[in-house]
Amino acid sequence: MKIDDLPVRDELRGQSPYGAPQLDVPVQLNTNENPYPLPEPLVARIAERVAEAARALNRYPDRDAVELRTELARYLTRTTGFERGVAQVWAANGSNEVIQQLLQTFGGPGRSALGFEPSYQMHELISRGTGTRWIAGPRRADFTIDLDAAVAALAEHRPDVLFVCSPNNPTGTAVDAATVLALYEAAQAVKPTVVIVDEAYVEFSHRPSLLPLLAGRPLMVVTRTMSKAFGAAGLRLGYLAADAAVVDAVQLVRLPYHLSSVTQATALACLEHTDTLLGYVARLKAERDRLVEALRALGLEVTESDSNFIQFGTFEDPHAVWRAILGHGVLIRDNGVPGHLRVTAGTPEENEAFLAAVSTVIKEL
Ligand code: PMP
Repeated sequence: MKIDDLPVRDELRGQSPYGAPQLDVPVQLNTNENPYPLPEPLVARIAERVAEAARALNRYPDRDAVELRTELARYLTRTTGFERGVAQVWAANGSNEVIQQLLQTFGGPGRSALGFEPSYQMHELISRGTGTRWIAGPRRADFTIDLDAAVAALAEHRPDVLFVCSPNNPTGTAVDAATVLALYEAAQAVKPTVVIVDEAYVEFSHRPSLLPLLAGRPLMVVTRTMSKAFGAAGLRLGYLAADAAVVDAVQLVRLPYHLSSVTQATALACLEHTDTLLGYVARLKAERDRLVEALRALGLEVTESDSNFIQFGTFEDPHAVWRAILGHGVLIRDNGVPGHLRVTAGTPEENEAFLAAVSTVIKEL
């Protein structure tokens, strides 16, 4: 039996599961993880908090994750100056689950979602998985959003959900506030549209967060994650900030007790160490800028990056270049963007290994 021999839903036929290859190589710069393990004092604090949670594992967790949402709101307020409270923040197992809950609430059969491609592929896959029709919106050749073309696409396709990924994966480009505002207004002029601003990488950006745009815009949602800046991809904790009514609405589709007590305890411990973790972010931003310069010095074309990863090219056969770099023990990402590859900023040593591999490989092209 194969998948397609089973009576699976039509939209799943011929699809493959999402995921980058998980290969055991010395230098792994392919999934935009944070290369720094959590500091030991935080590991000890996690152990303490989890032990406390373990003593109450016979009970279901706090279904509304009130303490965690309060601390996430405090983090947002402190880092953006834009005040958020527990009622305006929601959390789930990774921002992927947050996005899934949003699409279960505002998308679904008979509805559609539009995103500007290339972008984070899970926006499309979660749309399909929730029965939401996917519409590929346009970008310019330099990967920025062409506002006129975007407004035309909104008028033509009338989506129920609009994705704006800033900084965008896999290109690294951030979207300026004026463009996001114009997209929001243009979408609402056609029909009520939930605008999801995916800020998974915002802590790495040269630009401030788009969070303050939520003021007076009840259909705008900002999604965030602890997988990148907090260096806690293994934790699986994502969150959103939005109008309190949106937070109430996603609770119609969330599974009861979706966030385990262990997850909540671990995330709370991480939030106690925010300053140390943001120190690693500052280091990674500097390394990212250094990598951009170094790749340009090699004569490569590098897309401006506001993320912890960099898109570069151009190559006639990016997959062959990806394979050759892998041959040097360095795993990066081929996202299928024509002519381009993507590398995550790692530790200085990992970045050196990557640069050495690229400079050797491009000489052989
Ligand atoms: N949004 C974007 C743009 C991403 O690149 C990712 C992870 N690669 C996510 C969301 C999901 O992250 P997580 O589920 O780990 O929070």
